[in-house]
Amino acid sequence: MGQGLEILDRAELAPTSGYLGGKWRAGDARFAVKNPATGETLAEVADLGASDTEAAVSAATEAWHSWSRLTAKERSVLMRRWAGLILQHQEDLARIMTLENGKVLAEARLETALSAAYIEWGAEEGRRIYGDVIPSHRPDARLLVFRQSIGPVGVITPWNFPSAMLTRKAAAILGSGCSLVAKPAAETPLSALALAVLADEAGIPAGVFNIVPSKRAGEVGKVLTEDARIRAFSFTGSTAVGKELMRQCASTVKKTAMELGGNAPLLVFDDADLETAITGTMQSKFRNGGQTCICPNRIFVQDKIYDSYISGLAEQAAQIKVGNGLTEGMQQGPLINQAAVEKVLRQVENAKSLGGEILCGGDQGTLGGCFHMPTVIANANTKMEFACEETFGPVAPVVRFATEAEGVAMANDTEFGLAAYAFTQDLARAFRVSETLESGMVSLNAGVMTTEVAPFGGYKESGLGREGSHQGMDEFTETKYVQFAGL
Ligand code: ADP
Repeated sequence: MGQGLEILDRAELAPTSGYLGGKWRAGDARFAVKNPATGETLAEVADLGASDTEAAVSAATEAWHSWSRLTAKERSVLMRRWAGLILQHQEDLARIMTLENGKVLAEARLETALSAAYIEWGAEEGRRIYGDVIPSHRPDARLLVFRQSIGPVGVITPWNFPSAMLTRKAAAILGSGCSLVAKPAAETPLSALALAVLADEAGIPAGVFNIVPSKRAGEVGKVLTEDARIRAFSFTGSTAVGKELMRQCASTVKKTAMELGGNAPLLVFDDADLETAITGTMQSKFRNGGQTCICPNRIFVQDKIYDSYISGLAEQAAQIKVGNGLTEGMQQGPLINQAAVEKVLRQVENAKSLGGEILCGGDQGTLGGCFHMPTVIANANTKMEFACEETFGPVAPVVRFATEAEGVAMANDTEFGLAAYAFTQDLARAFRVSETLESGMVSLNAGVMTTEVAPFGGYKESGLGREGSHQGMDEFTETKYVQFAGL
């Protein structure tokens, strides 16, 4: 098997130009997209700038007027066709994702299926954006409340879920009658461009879905946040960048939806089912090599179950098959780049210097490059760097606690509040803990919770707004109150 885009069944799913107003734009400059498993260049992609982004905003603005006037059913037919094409090309889309992001094929296939599910959900929910009729405060009037599409939306997405982060936004944006201009992460523009090919084939009208690949994030971001024609801005990425983009959005008072960083706690109580807790930790911690914003970053385990939990966890983590994600059967691929590996190595060293004991992994093993071995650290404590900084790698630091109050207090001791996990069989405790954890999402007794039907989003500095579910549609609609008087 080859190592590049030649392995695709349909080569045209990997264009290297931007997609603006239904046309492909090559631009004047190019940037290299690398395969993190091999370090080889996969493609040279158009490096578009401010003027291209402005052209995309013009196209999106024009397209919004006609797209928003279609019936919700007409939009949903096209979106469902798009979802169908995504599923039909699941294998090629998964290969593209593995090649540019490094994640293993099995996970890339699941992400592709989730992407189709998001688009299908947006198509369905778009038909249920209901308004209100309010009993009037005066006898000669009737009061109506409409929900209207907000307008063209600026979108910036990260590399860790190159397809799902874009489709989750596109589902709500297109489903509510808006258009979008998206800048995918420079590490992973190919998955976004493949989605554009299929949107085009599905008949999504020109200008509704625009992709501006670029290495010049600041330049493109400035247009997407400051152009007055863009009415809402949706971002997934780091809290630091998100804060800056919110500041920029303030210049035109844009509605913002922000999915920012996390530092998820995972709590295992003495009364947990041991096997469930270990399986749940494995699924949530090591998925995508630990590079998800809802991966548990801090694991807190109660005294009595600590020893059996940590030995079981280390035993399973040591068995994870690490290698090139294209090789069938691999369970963990490389991290996204060298900087990511260096951050993980630094955090592991820091934990060791503060008394952490490495039970498995702890280094790059024999693979080197962008790989880091699955790692479990015993005797971890909250003075270690992971306590206040996202690891974004396959490292599970396990901290001991005594009482429920102590465990929950440590879990909440962070400015982030995206996801939290708890394992307990005590129903009263499950309720107490789920109510006191300060996070937008709590998963009890399971390691995987992402689905198109539930609201995804964070408390505190983890963000604003929700994606998925019917709540996700609210980010891209305006509320209009109309009084009909003199009746
Ligand atoms: P990550 O740590 O996941 O790379 P970032 O917040 O740096 O998180 O990146 C998320 C997305 O934000 C990417 O598409 C990236 O190109 C973009 N980005 C980074 N810096 C800026 C910026 N100053 N303005 C606009 N977009 C940016």
